[in-house]
Amino acid sequence: MKLTIKDTYNKELPEDPILENTPRQVSGACYSLVTPKKTKKPELVHVSIEMLEAIGLSLEDSKTDTFVQTFTGNTILPNTKPYAMCYGGHQFGNWAGQLGDGRAINLAEVEHLSKRWALQLKGAGPTPYSRTADGLAVLRSSIREYLCSEAIHHLGIPTTRALSLSLTGDQVLRDVLYNGNPEYEKGAVVCRAAPSFIRFGNFQIFSARQDTKNLKKLTDYTISHFFSHLGTPSKTTYLQFFKEVMLRNLEMVIHWQRVGFVHGVMNTDNMSILGLTIDYGPYGWLEDYDADWTPNTTDRQHKRYRFGNQADIVLWNLYQLANALYPLINETEGLETILTEYTDLYAEKYVAMMRSKLGLYTIYKKDISLIQEVEENLQLTETDMTIFFRNLSDFNSENSEEGFSLIKNALYKPDEVTKAIKEKWDAWFKNYAERLQQENVLPKERKEKMNLTNPKYVLRNYMAQLAIEAADKGDYSLIDTLFTILKNPYKEQMEHIKWFAKRPDWARNKIGCSMLSCSS
Ligand code: AMP
Ligand code: MG
Repeated sequence: MKLTIKDTYNKELPEDPILENTPRQVSGACYSLVTPKKTKKPELVHVSIEMLEAIGLSLEDSKTDTFVQTFTGNTILPNTKPYAMCYGGHQFGNWAGQLGDGRAINLAEVEHLSKRWALQLKGAGPTPYSRTADGLAVLRSSIREYLCSEAIHHLGIPTTRALSLSLTGDQVLRDVLYNGNPEYEKGAVVCRAAPSFIRFGNFQIFSARQDTKNLKKLTDYTISHFFSHLGTPSKTTYLQFFKEVMLRNLEMVIHWQRVGFVHGVMNTDNMSILGLTIDYGPYGWLEDYDADWTPNTTDRQHKRYRFGNQADIVLWNLYQLANALYPLINETEGLETILTEYTDLYAEKYVAMMRSKLGLYTIYKKDISLIQEVEENLQLTETDMTIFFRNLSDFNSENSEEGFSLIKNALYKPDEVTKAIKEKWDAWFKNYAERLQQENVLPKERKEKMNLTNPKYVLRNYMAQLAIEAADKGDYSLIDTLFTILKNPYKEQMEHIKWFAKRPDWARNKIGCSMLSCSS
């Protein structure tokens, strides 16, 4: 197994001089060196062939003992110094101080085909940032991260990736619902990969500690490696950097709204400086379209991170990043302009995204109300988002009165559809049909285009749960099936049509399907 190691983060940035691996405050450093915990009986469950190739390994490599030992943390790659990153963050709107990689250990950065990948183990044991927790991860949450990060990638959404999923052979104690009923679960490790795992919180921690010297070092490092086109760091460059971070995160959240992904824990420590979807915890997918829905039971009361609030939260988080970068710029005006731009740009790009979901390729003012009305209608009675938009490409604008029959398959409670609801849909389909007449695209062409933006297959909450339940019993075949289906989310894949279906009734209120906590 041969990897081209090109470490930069732990070479160019300040290191914590203390080697003691106990929970503590780490100041004046970007990371602490740590050794992953030895595991009892590591076993590879699944590997991503695409990611193997991306980092320069073969399928044969993944079958070696060295591979499983390395990607569960039992063996350290030659000439590397694994480390945990120091960062802080706002959790649920409150400054939480130092957080850091409490259950993630970076192995190394590797270079292949002119791309650099940081490889990180999630669940490989405690670090100085583990606070009161154990630094471990269970199979359940590891399957969720592994499958979803690859699914999000194939939907065309920026994200961290996953290389491998392994069992550690150790047992891990978890209280799934935080209600005093802890149980042992199988321990697991995911090796994830990204150009960098730097988060908003990495900048915030230095700013909070008035450590401008290290704030500058980290920012200059980030710009020189990941935004090098911006040139030599200066006040102007810092502002341009902030603007790019704004644009990337805006892009990311528009995509989430497009496919119905709800992150669940958009704390500033879970916001990537590269605009990647990061930290798959109690995330979920909209089944019935409900702007107020969040999968995260910890957030049940205030629903801060609900579907309809994600774009505002990105902005809130960008304000925190702006505050963190302020000591490098010492002027609010430029930062404020960029934050104001976010709101206007989001509104504009959101409409453009919704137009593409509806198959509209020209621009008319009335589209705004068409979009608002479809969003309202989708919430009149529980209606499946994925099925509705996918089937919409079959709508025949010559026969608008047939529109409603098209969405029947998407309804969770067809009996609750009143005359008034049906009338609202009929009216909408009539307007939609008229609007489509103004387009120059042939129906077949429109269908093809719409199907490239409205996925057929997403990782529905119950699908992940079924894969977890089977894996708990030692059957990993569903992980593999879902992994394969989700590689082509926009394709018909008739052999997998049974997964193009509404959430089954048993999953409506089931733990792991509609209720998730951070207990991973
Ligand atoms: P999250 O919001 O789940 O990404 O995690 C918030 C913080 O808690 C981060 O600093 C994590 O590293 C830390 N954390 C979460 N779970 C564990 C765990 N099992 N052991 C140690 N630290 C953890
Ligand atoms: Mg996190």
